[in-house]
Amino acid sequence: MNLVPSPRSRFLRVKCSDCGNEQVTFGSASSRVKCLVCGKTLVEPRGGKSTILTKIIAVLE
Ligand SMILES: [Zn+2]
Repeated sequence: MNLVPSPRSRFLRVKCSDCGNEQVTFGSASSRVKCLVCGKTLVEPRGGKSTILTKIIAVLE
């Protein structure tokens, strides 16, 4: 698992490292984002910016 600082103001396609579900989330989400399938925390807000806790498949611009 990589802890990657998120690019700001972009949508990210992320893949849940637990169940393989892919979903799109906002790169600068201010609230916790959970996997829609298994509930694993994918994005966690920290000090004003979000930390991606799972794999980023693509950055959507
Ligand atoms: Zn999942």
